[in-house]
Amino acid sequence: MRLDYENYYHIMPDGTTKQLNPFTGTEVWAVPGRSSKPVSTSHTVFPKKIEPKEKEDFCSFCETRFFETPPEKTRLVKQGDQYVRINFVPPDKYSETVAVFRRIPNLFEIVTLDYWRKNYGFKLNEQQQQWRESYLSNSVGLRHITDIINFKLNRLGKSFEEVEKIPLEEKLQMADSFFGGSHEIIIAHRHFVPDAKFDDQLISSGDLNQEEHYQYLKFAIESMVDIFQMNRYARYTSVFQNWLSPAGASVDHLHKQVVALDEWGSSIAAQTKMVMQDPNIFNEYGANFAGHHNLVFAENEHAIAFVGIGHRFPTVEIYSKSQASRPQEHSEEEIRGMSNMVHAIHMATGSQISCNEEWYYTPIDSIYKMPWRILIKWRINVPAGFEGGTSIYINPMTPIELRDRLVPVLYKLRDERRIEFFRIAEECKLRPNPLKYYLK
Ligand SMILES: [Zn+2]
Repeated sequence: MRLDYENYYHIMPDGTTKQLNPFTGTEVWAVPGRSSKPVSTSHTVFPKKIEPKEKEDFCSFCETRFFETPPEKTRLVKQGDQYVRINFVPPDKYSETVAVFRRIPNLFEIVTLDYWRKNYGFKLNEQQQQWRESYLSNSVGLRHITDIINFKLNRLGKSFEEVEKIPLEEKLQMADSFFGGSHEIIIAHRHFVPDAKFDDQLISSGDLNQEEHYQYLKFAIESMVDIFQMNRYARYTSVFQNWLSPAGASVDHLHKQVVALDEWGSSIAAQTKMVMQDPNIFNEYGANFAGHHNLVFAENEHAIAFVGIGHRFPTVEIYSKSQASRPQEHSEEEIRGMSNMVHAIHMATGSQISCNEEWYYTPIDSIYKMPWRILIKWRINVPAGFEGGTSIYINPMTPIELRDRLVPVLYKLRDERRIEFFRIAEECKLRPNPLKYYLK
């Protein structure tokens, strides 16, 4: 079979790089030189001085303000060298242990509990009912729930007097979404790096150490698995991380989100059709394609990273090489391989660049396998009128420019032993068909 690569990636004599995303059909041009504009999107133009605090209180995700977010489902606690999970911590015991990561319901769900109830007849299961009862029978818990429902009603536009008039029973009904909802947030412990002096020294994914990053990823996978167990109508979960406000984050404190959906979404559905026609498509138009165009720039035993083509924003794609096609089916070593690679890209990106991290994988009810992959998109440009009128998107960096920006930083990080010792740039093996998801 002859692969028509030039239709998807074409560098013109002046360097303009025309791209068509093989999996989404998005048409993108990148004009060289545009990236010489400064790339940092630091939201804080003039960093403000901050007082470092042992226990932080800078936002609702900080540890002294746990009662500003819904009740916690699980926390990860470090005991010696071990990470231990504690489920359903009673509200009066929140401060007895230090949560390295916490899993909490989203106060403002994208897909609400009512959606699942009204459209599918979803009911809280026994475990969720029990959690609800024990939480509400705790006086600190009852106070927490009423306060937070009052806050939510207020934010939804009700006045203080109107909120006061709503009967407690009705408010507690609203709280069901905390105990049975399918939209969770995974929150990191710290807001700022230790000893931060200015408010732009936020802790990003890249500021975690390698082990913490692995625990963070694994914790998010556990959230997915739990959501599928609790909500039998869920067919897919969207897993993503918005870093800083240009990427859509409403809070600067590091967090990921996991949202259950009753469908795959159009891009996964379209890609499933492609896999049905050609099971090896993610090698041919993903890893092999990138290899042929020297866009692969990092590789370890379990993961491979390359610059994606046909994205509206400069995008790194990290693919799992595993035969398993869903995150939860990966071995610990494979998850570590993915985590180390994602972590290294975040480190090389730095905390000042706003970015989205998006996960894709085989839906639980699909019999057609596609690989687990994580895309990191630098939100350094705002699509404007030109894009709206033409459906051609202008990406401010060519794929080669993005690769050449990351590679020297990765070498440096590796020299300093701050990332795993994996292959970089020309050291990558580039074996054909590195992704093994297609194997039965
Ligand atoms: Zn915070």
